[in-house]
Amino acid sequence: MTPTPEQAKKAARTPDARTEPSHGWCHWHNGTSGTAILISVIESTSGPGYAKYACQPCREQRNLVPFGQA
Ligand SMILES: [Zn+2]
Repeated sequence: MTPTPEQAKKAARTPDARTEPSHGWCHWHNGTSGTAILISVIESTSGPGYAKYACQPCREQRNLVPFGQA
């Protein structure tokens, strides 16, 4: 039986909420945050880059640049 569009939408929404990336986590103070956003990390000397999130206070203290605004 084919799921109705409504069922499909519900099924798609559930995993999204659970697998939400590091949003809400600040890698700089290592804690949760409601203001954490993706930061463009330039660390060419230490291997491949990876996504890091920083909250607003940490961004201001460390002059971090939001991803895409560098
Ligand atoms: Zn922080």
